[in-house]
Amino acid sequence: MRKCLRCEAQMVEDLAVMVTNKPIGIEVREQGMFKMPLEKIKCAVCPQCGYVETYVEVSHFIKKLAEKDS
Ligand SMILES: [Zn+2]
Repeated sequence: MRKCLRCEAQMVEDLAVMVTNKPIGIEVREQGMFKMPLEKIKCAVCPQCGYVETYVEVSHFIKKLAEKDS
């Protein structure tokens, strides 16, 4: 469950982030050529105040990158 950082209401999750008028999403990938996309960026919206938050599902690829940086 994701809580709104502003008003602490329960957010509506798993929504798609879209480029206006284009049927494509945006994604997270490592910098550099030939890198594969890691995760699609999703968003959550607070139904009370309208605050929008973006996030990705944390995968083993993301965890591997975090280990590499520490
Ligand atoms: Zn809110």
